Amino acid sequence: MKIAIIGAGPAGAHLAHELSLQGAEVDLYDARPPWEKPCGGGVTSKALAEFPFLLKNRSPRQMVSSLRLISAAGRDVTVRPRADFAIYSRRELGRLLRERAVEAGARLHLDRVEETARMAGKWVIKTASGAVREVDLLIGADGASSVIRRRVGIRFGAEDFAYGLGWHIQGTAGESRVDVRYLDGLSGYLWLFPRADHLSYGIASGYRETTPAELKERLLGYIEWQNPPAAELIRAGDPLTKFYAAMIPALGETSWDRLQASNSAAGWALVGDAAGFVDPLTGEGIYYAIKSATLLAKAIGGRLSDYEEMWREGFGRDLRRAAALSDRFYSGNYAGASMAERMVQLAKRHRGVRETLCDLISGDQGYLDLKSRLINQAWQIW
Ligand SMILES: Cc1cc2nc3c(=O)[nH]c(=O)nc-3n(C[C@H](O)[C@H](O)[C@H](O)COP(=O)(O)OP(=O)(O)OC[C@H]3O[C@@H](n4cnc5c(N)ncnc54)[C@H](O)[C@@H]3O)c2cc1C
Repeated sequence: MKIAIIGAGPAGAHLAHELSLQGAEVDLYDARPPWEKPCGGGVTSKALAEFPFLLKNRSPRQMVSSLRLISAAGRDVTVRPRADFAIYSRRELGRLLRERAVEAGARLHLDRVEETARMAGKWVIKTASGAVREVDLLIGADGASSVIRRRVGIRFGAEDFAYGLGWHIQGTAGESRVDVRYLDGLSGYLWLFPRADHLSYGIASGYRETTPAELKERLLGYIEWQNPPAAELIRAGDPLTKFYAAMIPALGETSWDRLQASNSAAGWALVGDAAGFVDPLTGEGIYYAIKSATLLAKAIGGRLSDYEEMWREGFGRDLRRAAALSDRFYSGNYAGASMAERMVQLAKRHRGVRETLCDLISGDQGYLDLKSRLINQAWQIW
């Protein structure tokens, strides 16, 4: 079977690897060489355990053993998940994944796909360089603003996105702790992620919930508090600092219910951000990009129509639950404060809550059974 994958980020490159190993003829397109995509680059220990190739390689990464959670009111708790998680430079992670795809037999084209047309049961692909190719299956792995998603008629609304921005600051790494700070009055958080050779500061909230200028000021306020020399570099526009901004899918409950990520009769499928496969509560997407690619490869090896049930069963129902929790987590009122505020407060005092939090961060605690675990703990506390 001839397959074109549009986008060689984690989803597209991993899918190309898996399909090539299965013997498919795969053309993998990306408009650019591996790049420093706007992204924290954090990969949970659950993802590292499920996809060992992420660790068994020489790509530079920063392993992280502890995470400091700071509530909007300034309370903080430091937690140490059972296993370390990793923070990658996206350029390095991209390089690794593309190399694996090519080694497995995929043809990688550094070329922007500009047109796709359905003709006589095939897809015809045209690229910026003028190349034309006819394939049996079209895969959209082209990220949050996917053109392929729109091309096949799947629409997300403004409310299905978060917006993130931040700065990478060269030469100031060396930390092995991540900071996450929840935001007063906004559904999102800001973060400090240490990377192998730079620090990554970022902030994200619901798209159009506030202005980029306010997000910038809030993040700069935090950097000034934590790392005044870094804030000075940013304010001076020093070339050691690099600004980034991007959209992150954050689907609401009804969008999860409506979502269709493939159509076997029409010969298309979506993976990763293009399909909206991102945790709406945390913005974690690298794991879901790789996981959805793994599931889609299995479905293509069997029956493509099985993909819908596979992704819903594999992670979709859990992420829908996260969407349902999101409002309450960031702005709900639990005895006069948000769930995030209460979570930090309780985690400081109770080992059981700290352990739940560690499991959530490492990816070992899903959202579907989170409530019952927390209720059990609440019984023990009160
Ligand atoms: C600010 C921010 C912070 C984040 N932090 C984290 C984090 O810490 N941990 C985490 O797990 N997730 C994080 N995410 C989410 C994560 O970045 C994505 O979920 C992940 O990159 C999705 O992978 P993907 O392969 O689906 O898409 P992408 O990584 O976006 O790759 C899509 C690729 O498609 C290519 N492309 C697009 N259009 C075309 C075209 N027409 N022709 C050819 N190529 C094309 C692009 O060049 C790109 O390389 C963050 C996102 C943002 C915005």
